[in-house]
Amino acid sequence: MLKSLLFTVDVEEFVIPGELGIVFDREEAYRLGAEGLERLCDLLAARQIPATHFVTFEFARRFPELLRAEVGRGSEIALHAFDHEDDLTKLSDEEAFDRLRAAKAGVEGLLGLSVQGYRANRFRSPARAVLKRLGLTWTSNLHPAWVPGAYNHRKARRDPHRSEGLLEIPISATPRLGLPVSWFWLRNLGATYFCAAAKRVLAHSNRLHLYVHPWEFAALPAVPGLPLSARLSVRRTGAPFLRLLERVLAAPPAGSLLAETISGFISRSGLGEVSSSPASEG
Ligand SMILES: [Zn+2]
Repeated sequence: MLKSLLFTVDVEEFVIPGELGIVFDREEAYRLGAEGLERLCDLLAARQIPATHFVTFEFARRFPELLRAEVGRGSEIALHAFDHEDDLTKLSDEEAFDRLRAAKAGVEGLLGLSVQGYRANRFRSPARAVLKRLGLTWTSNLHPAWVPGAYNHRKARRDPHRSEGLLEIPISATPRLGLPVSWFWLRNLGATYFCAAAKRVLAHSNRLHLYVHPWEFAALPAVPGLPLSARLSVRRTGAPFLRLLERVLAAPPAGSLLAETISGFISRSGLGEVSSSPASEG
């Protein structure tokens, strides 16, 4: 089977200042998200790469036309949150269900489609039973990577697998060491690192599953009070990241993969059938 490029986007406002408790105009944060998304989607459209967009309801209600255009060119819409500031792990199952149900119904109503997939904002997912009850069929909540200072999930499963009745499609990280290949690391470590890491991923897997955020492609303003440790989160954003992404998507190994949405990948690989038990991988 041809190996896949799963290009995914966590569609949200510019979240970095808010996550650090720095006051930043909320509507400006959304505007930067939309600006970046537009630039990113132009690049992906030119390369005929459909994306899987994990959207927050708060983003979708501000910029539905951007997302409708993406659906029109073959991209997929999945769910990220109602509001990116939500922390569903602090709510009861019932409260988390209500919040996500409102988000899902809202996004579906705005865009006129049915949402099947979910990636939790900041990977803070409620219980899988809650997601199943919402009628979701797949998730992408695992990043089996080692992120110093944040988390070490490198022992987590890397292969698509069923868990509590929902299919999980993990994000790519290199085998064994669990080095991440997506947003922050791609931007800060550059094309040579990315291509080598992507090759390692593909030696053990049938897909390269990446994720980025739209604000990484916007011309971000200087944020007063941003601590030194957070500067890497915004380093080389905007035009430099667009140029870098364009380069790595055109070059091997990413350039020779079949670009498809997560749902497209699930159906092409026969993972949608409940009886399937995918072989495990590195
Ligand atoms: Zn997010």
